[in-house]
Amino acid sequence: MPRILLLIVLVWILYLILKRVSANLTKDKFTEKKAENEKMVLCSKCGCHIPMSESLTTDNQITCNNPDCTKPE
Ligand SMILES: [Zn+2]
Repeated sequence: MPRILLLIVLVWILYLILKRVSANLTKDKFTEKKAENEKMVLCSKCGCHIPMSESLTTDNQITCNNPDCTKPE
């Protein structure tokens, strides 16, 4: 009965794939949530709220990554 063995192996592989996909989905959700909870800072030039990781700190002033914003006035 090699057919049954083949079927069992196929189901097992499918199970492993589904397990991996669901693990990836959980990981993505976790990363997303972490990004949402990131500290927001206020740009001292344009007043925009931006995530800490996207901000630039120059001369103790927080500015955003926007090239228009960092332009000297
Ligand atoms: Zn700005």
